[in-house]
Amino acid sequence: MRPPFIGIIGGSGMEDKEIFHSNTKTHRIETPYGNPSDVVLTGKIGGIKAAFLPRHGTKHQLAPSKIPYKANIWALRSLGVQFIIGTCIVGSLKKKIEPGSFVVLDQFVNLTHGRDHECIEKDGSFLHLPMGEPYCAVTRDLVIQGLKETNRRVQRKGTVVVIQGPRFSTKAESRFFMRQKWDVVNMTQYPECLFARELGVCYAAFASVTDYDVGTEQTMSMDPSDLSKVLKVFHKNTEKTIKALQNMVTGAGKLTCGCAASRIREYYNQSDNKLYAKRRKANEVISRERCRSRCNV
Ligand SMILES: [Zn+2]
Repeated sequence: MRPPFIGIIGGSGMEDKEIFHSNTKTHRIETPYGNPSDVVLTGKIGGIKAAFLPRHGTKHQLAPSKIPYKANIWALRSLGVQFIIGTCIVGSLKKKIEPGSFVVLDQFVNLTHGRDHECIEKDGSFLHLPMGEPYCAVTRDLVIQGLKETNRRVQRKGTVVVIQGPRFSTKAESRFFMRQKWDVVNMTQYPECLFARELGVCYAAFASVTDYDVGTEQTMSMDPSDLSKVLKVFHKNTEKTIKALQNMVTGAGKLTCGCAASRIREYYNQSDNKLYAKRRKANEVISRERCRSRCNV
């Protein structure tokens, strides 16, 4: 059994970084949802094939609300990717989550607005997506293993509150997030995580903590006087992120998964060549499974 083909969606700082060891190819992909953020690169890391797409484009030209999230997932999927690892930058909402550390996300809270996040196709078909555990557990484990060698503190679980951006939080907003006991704040995890599941791709993300959010009243926040310190952490963590991603790809081995995304993938794979041909069928089965698990029968 060959290792799985891993896709990487690189967040801020990763746009122009070299993560492949050899055989880099460029793919310009059109999707039913428009163009992805930029060209997709494929290449080898430790002899294993992987794909890379910069979330904001290679020149960081796309604001968080303008990113074509669904096209990005589709583009990677069209190359044969079944597992995606996303990287992102976050602010910490807790004193114990220090700048320079990493958080492997396991829950999100969506506070964005006006983004295209509908899972309804032109023909009216849709999925009632299970979202209790929005991230794939198997891919999260791979991420946790890959982060071990960074010699950085790694929090294995964390709730990210996703804000609209591109501005940062006010102190009042930030204090509100802290009172909810959420861990970190970011602008791009939604709807990326949602669309990965909808398209049947296992997805996990890890967050690089560059600073404390403004309501924490800690030093190292997005204050002009702290900017040079924050940037230093940002650049150092980007180097660590590249190494960690390389560890994840080479450590992938045989990945098998039974998460909700993998079940949706199975149903899609049963159709001949039209992804949505069995969409309603998938919906019925997912609803039935959810009912069964809730009713415990
Ligand atoms: Zn999975």
